[in-house]
Amino acid sequence: MNEIDFLKHEKISDRFHVVRESFGHGVVFNVYIIIGDNKVAIIDSSIGATGGLRRYIETHVTDKRPMACYMTHGHLDHFGGAILFDEVYLNHREYPKVPWNLNVPRRLSDLDVFADGNKEILDFCKEHYIHNENVSYRDVDDGDIIDLGGVRLEVIMLPGHSPGLLTYFNRADNYVIVGDSLMKTNAGYTRCDDMPKSLEYLNRFIAMMPGNVVMYNGHEVETCSIDLAHTFKTSMEDIIAGRTQNDLPSPAWFSYRLPEDSKMKRMVHYVGNVGMAYDANRYGCRPEGGRSCSREN
Ligand SMILES: [Zn+2]
Repeated sequence: MNEIDFLKHEKISDRFHVVRESFGHGVVFNVYIIIGDNKVAIIDSSIGATGGLRRYIETHVTDKRPMACYMTHGHLDHFGGAILFDEVYLNHREYPKVPWNLNVPRRLSDLDVFADGNKEILDFCKEHYIHNENVSYRDVDDGDIIDLGGVRLEVIMLPGHSPGLLTYFNRADNYVIVGDSLMKTNAGYTRCDDMPKSLEYLNRFIAMMPGNVVMYNGHEVETCSIDLAHTFKTSMEDIIAGRTQNDLPSPAWFSYRLPEDSKMKRMVHYVGNVGMAYDANRYGCRPEGGRSCSREN
């Protein structure tokens, strides 16, 4: 077993590549590489289960420097490998949960799920995971423009999946990297503190995007169109209004949880075949209480 066994590379265009990491569960972790004349942007850095990501990028994509890692958000499966790069950027709203997301027993516990409990992979990653507890990061925020030299990225906040989730929009090439905010599968908004506010940001995002923009997300191989953002808009409107009578419980994948997470009532709301997981203790109905469905927050 080798540190780069879990990585695959795909060239999207000369300046835009993706490296996908997977440990067997079917979940893919996308790392996007955008090559400017003066700087390379790495958007997200996977789970940091092994230390081979930068070496792999330098071998298969580009060895240009500096390489700056910009996170869409601070979940453990997005900035586990960030310390491998020359600069690390994360929105300040994500900082409070950084220690939790870098907690090593928790990272390894989640990896157990991603690797389908494969003992060989787990033992390998226990030896090779990235020690990044002392990573220092710089703030990046809504409205920032990242100039890589010949490539510009506009930073647009889209909170809900996490409080400071950022998307990176390349207007010239008409694509946007949206992290986990807009996915056809596994769209977790269980920790959404303020869904009406998230809906405002989503409406603004939709207004800012060209109708034919191509959306790349954190875990899927296929791209999505802006239609998915409209589906999420409908979903949020339903959840806020309590149109959730037919929703089903959403299973929790991971056993290692924050105390406040164990109090959640995870439900999933479907619009078409796209599900949005949310905490019914904050929004929507509470079927076990037999009460009518109304907004409670
Ligand atoms: Zn996430």
